[in-house]
Amino acid sequence: MTDRQPYDAFLTRVLRITQLTPHFTRITFGGDDLQHFGIDGLDQRIKLLLPRADGTFPELGLFDGPSPAMLDWYRRWRELPDEERNPIRTYTIRAVRPELAEIDVDFVLHGTEGPASAWAQAAAPGDELIIVGPDSRAASPAGGIEWNPGPARRVLLAGDETAAPAICAILESLPDDFSGEAFIEVPEAGDRLNISHPSGVTVTWLGRDGAPHGTFLEPAVAEWGARRLSGAAAQTDALEDAEATDPDEVLWDVPEHVVGEDYAWLAGEAGVVTRMRRHLVRDLGIDRKAVAFMGYWRIGRAEG
Ligand SMILES: Cc1cc2nc3c(=O)[nH]c(=O)nc-3n(C[C@H](O)[C@H](O)[C@H](O)COP(=O)(O)OP(=O)(O)OC[C@H]3O[C@@H](n4cnc5c(N)ncnc54)[C@H](O)[C@@H]3O)c2cc1C
Repeated sequence: MTDRQPYDAFLTRVLRITQLTPHFTRITFGGDDLQHFGIDGLDQRIKLLLPRADGTFPELGLFDGPSPAMLDWYRRWRELPDEERNPIRTYTIRAVRPELAEIDVDFVLHGTEGPASAWAQAAAPGDELIIVGPDSRAASPAGGIEWNPGPARRVLLAGDETAAPAICAILESLPDDFSGEAFIEVPEAGDRLNISHPSGVTVTWLGRDGAPHGTFLEPAVAEWGARRLSGAAAQTDALEDAEATDPDEVLWDVPEHVVGEDYAWLAGEAGVVTRMRRHLVRDLGIDRKAVAFMGYWRIGRAEG
């Protein structure tokens, strides 16, 4: 028996800050309980509970024993008056070192308009952050991993800078029998990261250098799709485009059972991801059950 939730809260402190590139900052967090942080890897998502403007956190009962279910503390958080509610944002766990009670999160620095980016830009050793993520003491798995290629061994990974931590973690974990391509569009050429990946997977970093999001990613993915289809007749799929037109729709669709040889994983700015998926599925006729797409953020809209 355990009194821990699969997706649990960890009180952490900033240990180290490493400026990886002009737009990527790696923050290493420490905390005694991080020895129990689950090593679920891949694109494992986590929630960051940022402090309020005065540096405090609201009392949500997160560290009560037994630990509260996410639905319970999230409901308490939503019911707080606006001025008492702290920002919550979604990130990817980049590395976990339970033996050192440390984890890494890679933040994109996109300015100070967003509280998460602003927090990361100003972070200093000792700063506190509450991170909600998998707890290895829990009886059941946390979920929050979308990478699920099933039997497919030919893969496409495509995303912008916010998806780079997930793509890097996925690539580093792939066995050598995987082949395919990864396209990562980043703010500038200098944001390229060194990562390991199977020799059969080609990794292409696309520096945007001031161009709009998707300028280089969308053609790269279209070209991948065209190559996949060479020899096969494109068919029209009855893809409903509701998600492409409704600005309030959550842009997230992950196939549960991939059956073919190919698997595409697309994540990043919602409009870009929607267009890439629409092109692959509707225009090129690639089976939608082979394409996972995740809107990680949306231009002009704060998360939450
Ligand atoms: C599953 C998942 C995993 C993610 N993993 C990571 C990760 O590991 N690292 C990471 O940096 N991000 C990651 N993101 C994206 C991150 O959650 C968003 O970028 C988030 O909006 C950042 O919060 P904020 O407080 O900085 O900005 P918000 O308050 O949410 O937004 C403020 C403004 O900034 C804009 N904005 C938000 N993000 C960006 C951006 N990257 N570039 C330019 N403008 C932006 C918004 O459109 C809005 O206008 C992930 C998202 C999801 C859903």
